[in-house]
Amino acid sequence: MASFEVEDLLWVSCPHRVWRPGRVIDEGEGLLLQLEPEDEEEEPAPLPLPLPPKRLLRRNVVLLGEGALRYDNLTEVPELHEAAVLHALDVRFAHQQIYTLTGPVLLAVNPFRSLPLYGQDALRSFAARQVGVAAAPKPHVFGIAAKALEGIRERYESQTVLISGESGAGKTETTKFVMQFLALASAERPAASGRKESKRTMSRVERQVLGSNPLLEAFGNAQTLRNDNSSRFGKYIELHFARPAQLGDDVPNPKLSGARIRTYLLEKVRVIRQSEGERSFHVFYQALAAAANGGDQLEGFQFPPDSFKYLRHDQAKAAEDLQQYEATLSAMSAIGLSHEVPKIFRVLAAILHMGNLSFNVSGESCQVAGEGNTLALIAELLAVPSKDLAAALTTRTRQVPGEGVIRSPQNLEKSAACRDALARHLYHAIFKYIVERSNSSIGVGKESRAKASAGFWTSSASSSSRRTPWSSSASTTPMSSCSSSSMSSSSSTRRHCIRRRASNGKPRTSRTMPTSWSCFHVGGTAEAWCNKLVRLHEGKGHFSHDRLKKGTFIISHFAGPVTYLCTEFLEKNKDELSADLVQCLKDSDDAFVRERFEEHDRVFGTSQSGKLGGDGRNQRVMKAQRYSVSGEFRQQLQELLQQIERTEPHFIRCIKPNPKNQAFVDGDSSKPFFHRPSVAEQLSYQGVLAAIKVARAGFPVRFWHVEFLREFRCLAPVELRTALEAALKESTDELAPSEAATKSVKALLACPEIQAALSGKRWALGHT
Ligand code: ATP
Ligand code: MG
Repeated sequence: MASFEVEDLLWVSCPHRVWRPGRVIDEGEGLLLQLEPEDEEEEPAPLPLPLPPKRLLRRNVVLLGEGALRYDNLTEVPELHEAAVLHALDVRFAHQQIYTLTGPVLLAVNPFRSLPLYGQDALRSFAARQVGVAAAPKPHVFGIAAKALEGIRERYESQTVLISGESGAGKTETTKFVMQFLALASAERPAASGRKESKRTMSRVERQVLGSNPLLEAFGNAQTLRNDNSSRFGKYIELHFARPAQLGDDVPNPKLSGARIRTYLLEKVRVIRQSEGERSFHVFYQALAAAANGGDQLEGFQFPPDSFKYLRHDQAKAAEDLQQYEATLSAMSAIGLSHEVPKIFRVLAAILHMGNLSFNVSGESCQVAGEGNTLALIAELLAVPSKDLAAALTTRTRQVPGEGVIRSPQNLEKSAACRDALARHLYHAIFKYIVERSNSSIGVGKESRAKASAGFWTSSASSSSRRTPWSSSASTTPMSSCSSSSMSSSSSTRRHCIRRRASNGKPRTSRTMPTSWSCFHVGGTAEAWCNKLVRLHEGKGHFSHDRLKKGTFIISHFAGPVTYLCTEFLEKNKDELSADLVQCLKDSDDAFVRERFEEHDRVFGTSQSGKLGGDGRNQRVMKAQRYSVSGEFRQQLQELLQQIERTEPHFIRCIKPNPKNQAFVDGDSSKPFFHRPSVAEQLSYQGVLAAIKVARAGFPVRFWHVEFLREFRCLAPVELRTALEAALKESTDELAPSEAATKSVKALLACPEIQAALSGKRWALGHT
C-alpha cells in the first residue's frame, strides 16, 4: 500500500479476528491506525504507521456497516480480498443470509439450525422461472439447482454440482436440498407460459430418490468428533432426465426418470474401532436400541451394548437411535427390502459378535478361545459350520508345488487380523448391497440412456487434510485437491503391495517385470516402500519427508500437510481377506451370505488354483493379489473426473462457521457464532480466494474457439462467411479446435464491427 491519508479505511491483520477494521488518524505525531473497538469496553491503542504492507488491506466503503447485505454476489464489491470476503460473510451470516455468491460459486455457511429457507414457496419461486426476465440470480442452493436444471432444459447437457467443504460443513444437507429441488421442480411449468400450474404429487422415482438418503445415512454415517452425522464415504448421485419433446426456456422442466448412486471408499475400519468420542455406523446402535425395546427381527442383538468390543458404547442417544431404527426400516421397505431385513441384521449381529472372539495361544499357533458360545453364535448367524469358521480364522492353506495344498497354523496376531478383516468385509458387503438395491429400486428406468443427468459429488475436503501435525489419517476418506501427486504416489503404493504378494516378501531379481517396478532388490517392508517413495518423489510437488521421522512421509494437501505412517498406509491399502475365509463364507447354507461373497473373486482377484479332497470341500488358495484400496480409488477417481469433465459444472462450497458446530454464542441467542480464523482457513483451502483472484484479474467469460464462431458468426462480414462455415464444419470437437477455426476467430475479432463492440472491454485470445 503506497501511501495513506487521514480518514483512509484499512484492515489490519490480527490473529484473533484475522482482519480488524481501522481508520487512519493524525494526532500530530505522524499517521496512526485507530482500530475500531470490538465492544463497548475495549479501547484499542492506535498502531503507528507504516505497518508491513502484508498486514494491511484497503477497506471498501461500500461494505461499511451492513453494506454487505446489499451484495448477493461478492465479485461486484469493488475491492475484493480476504478481509472483504470474510467481513461480508460475517455480516450476512449474522443476518441469517447464509448464502453468498462469488461469481458463479455459491458459498453456503452452515447455520446449524433450521431456517425457513426451503419451503414450498421458496422451491416454487426458483422452479417457476420468469421467462424472458433476466433477474440477477439470488444466492440460494435452489438457485444453483435451478441453473443446473436450466442447462438440461435448454440444451439437454449433463450437469454436475460439486459440493465441497470440511466435515460438518453441510455437504450432505446441501445435497439433499439440491435433490429435493430437482425432484420436485422437474415437472413445474414456467410462470410466464400462461399454462395453469399443475398440482404436483411426487412420482415413484422422486419419492425413492429422496427416500434413499436415510438408508445410506444409517449404513454409511456415524457420529464423529466433528459431525454427529458424518458421512464416512464419498458419493456421486446421478439423476437422469428424460429428453423433453422440445428444448428452450419456455418449455416445461424435464422430467426425472431415474437415478443412480455411486459410493466411494467406505471407512470400513470404523466397524472394528472408533476413536474416543466417536461411534460406529448408526445402524448398529439403532438395532441395539430396538432390540432393547423388544424389536423382532433382531436375532443376535439381545445383548447389552457394552458387551460388544467392536462398539464404543454410548447409550446417550438410545431414544434417538430407536426412532431412527424405525426410519431405517421404513426406508428399507420403501425400496422393497422388507424381506431381507432379518437377513441383513443377522449379518450385522454376526459382525458385532466377531469382535468378542478371542484366541488361546499355543506356541506359534492359536485356537479360538472357549470354542463355546460366541463362535457358535457367529457360525449360526452366518450359517457356516463353526469348526470350518474356526479353522479358516486360525490356519491358512497354501498351494505348494509338488505337494498340493497344505494347511499351516497362524499365530495370534494373524488370526485376530483375519477376524477383523472378515468383520470389515462383511460390513462393506452389506453396504454395497444396500446401495445396489437402492439403485435397482429407483430404477435407472426406461430412459436410463438419457444423456442428460445431474450429478452431485460430495466429498469431505478435510477428512485427510486437516492440519494434523502427526497423524495416520489415511484411514479416513482421503479426498484432496492435490490429485496429480496423490494419484502418482497411490500407483506406486499399489505396485508395492502387489509385488509384496507376488514375491512373498523375499528379494527378487526377475527381469520380466515392467520397468516401472524398478526396485525389486528391496524387501517388501513398509520401510522399503517409504524409501522408495522418498527416492521417487522427494522434492517434487506435494511430497516431502522428515528425515528424523523414519517410516513416514508428508503430503501437502490443499488444506495443509498431513504426515502418513507407512506401516498403516500399506496395511490399510491391502485390506485383504484370506482365501480360506472367503471360501468358508461362500459355502454358507444361507444364500444371502453366500451371494455377498460371490463377486469377491472378481473384485479382489482371488481365484481357484488348488482342489483338495480331505474334508470334501474345495479349497482355494490365493494367487497374486491384484486388489489395493488406493488402486481402486485411483480408478474410481479417474472415472469420476472423466465423467465430470463431460458435464457443465456448478460449485457449492460449504463453510462451517465454527469448529464446535454451535449455532449461537452462549447466552446470546441473537448473535450467531462466526469464528473468523477457521472460516478464513476454509476460504483459503477451498480455493475461494484464489478463484476470486482469477475471476477478477482474469477473464470470467470464456468461449472455445468453435463455440465463439457458432455464437457470433452472424456478425461476420459476407467475405468471411464461407471460410467460417467451412471451419465450423471441419471442427467437430470443441475441445480440440482446428487451425481453420482459430484462424476464423482471429479474422472475426479483427472485423471493425466486432472491434467496436469490444472496445472498452478487456479480452484476450487463447490457444483453444
Ligand atoms: P461430513 O463430511 O462429516 O459428512 P457434511 O459436510 O456432510 O459433513 P452435514 O452432515 O451435511 O455435513 O451437516 C452437519 C450438520 O449441520 C447437519 O446434521 C445439520 O444439523 C446442520 N446443517 C447443515 N446444513 C444445514 C442447513 N442448510 N440448515 C440447517 N442445518 C444445517
Ligand atoms: Mg456428509
